[in-house]
Amino acid sequence: MPFSYLNDDLLTLEEQGLFRRRRIVESAQGAVIRVDGRDYLSFCSNDYLGLANHPALIDAACRGAAQYGVGSGASHLITGHSEAHHKLELALAELVGFPDALLFSTGYMANMGVVSALLSRNDVVFADKLNHASLNDAVLVSRATMQRYSHLDLVQLEKQLIASKHRRKLVVTDAVFSMDGDIAPVPELLKLCERYDAWLLLDDAHGFGVLGREGKGVLEYFATQSPRIIYMATLGKAAGVFGAYVAGSPELIQMLIQRARTYIYTTAFPPMLANALLASVHLIQEEGWRRQRLQDLAGYLKDHLKLARWKLMPSITPIQPIVIGSNKETLAVSAALMEKGILVPAIRPPTVPKGEARLRISFSAAHSLEDARKLVEALNELEKVI
Ligand code: PMP
Repeated sequence: MPFSYLNDDLLTLEEQGLFRRRRIVESAQGAVIRVDGRDYLSFCSNDYLGLANHPALIDAACRGAAQYGVGSGASHLITGHSEAHHKLELALAELVGFPDALLFSTGYMANMGVVSALLSRNDVVFADKLNHASLNDAVLVSRATMQRYSHLDLVQLEKQLIASKHRRKLVVTDAVFSMDGDIAPVPELLKLCERYDAWLLLDDAHGFGVLGREGKGVLEYFATQSPRIIYMATLGKAAGVFGAYVAGSPELIQMLIQRARTYIYTTAFPPMLANALLASVHLIQEEGWRRQRLQDLAGYLKDHLKLARWKLMPSITPIQPIVIGSNKETLAVSAALMEKGILVPAIRPPTVPKGEARLRISFSAAHSLEDARKLVEALNELEKVI
């Protein structure tokens, strides 16, 4: 059989507790989702603001489908760039306070597109060791030299910047780290970038919509801005739909249109989704109570969880991981929670470092405090018996 040798590899993954299984979801996102015929309280999604199933977004998507149909039919540079896409780019640029913005189909593609459009062999990227996989892959594709610094270690980063003789320098970081929930020290990173003439690429996939009084993300949170910043945020998490965008200077955006291969050689995402996202941009700014709810839920967890062996991480965001350590124990806890009707994903290497397997709890404004209470009760009980 042509692929039979893969069986051994699959078996090894299974033995190491690293085999990944998908679930079949039969409902919309929300506090409760239906999986394989059963309802579960879900702490799995990145739908932080609870907008993925919001009637205003669904209505806007339907109106978009009525006007544009369901497919864009072409790439942005041919005839796929609709008026809805265009309006959305303008609205996003204005929201996050940059002169211009460009839509990509996914955050993965946006990161790939930016790094490989701006850098090549003679350049260097300085990357936090806990950055998202898409940023690491982007550097590989660009062929720039990659220098990784220990998580949040600005002293090490500065040494690397001082020693670098490369033509162009780019510092890349998750703004909110996706598996830890902590926030990059953007003002300090910016100072280093200014001192050593580097650009700063911020991946705000988990901060956009969540951080800042109006949900403008990590730059609003730190009340900072700079022409050195290349800002990337995704639209499939807090914004509740799909896609991503890069915001920055007009020259940057023009260069991405000319050179970003993941922008040029792919079909534009459906205009109906751009229409839904226009509704989402409005709600992100207007409905501050959603961000308040996220704070309340994380606060409840911290105040009521009584853990002896497992540990919560220092996160003020809706990503609240509990580090358990062993892959198998993490899987066992996740399975035991599932028995109780609660879904929390077990995150294992290579997504997180070896020996740091964890439950990744993510809160949504769709959750009530009663939902958080049920989760806390189950976790406090399970830690004693597993
Ligand atoms: N960056 C980060 C930090 C992410 O967490 C993710 C998604 N998990 C991405 C980029 C990729 O975004 P998308 O899902 O839109 O491809």
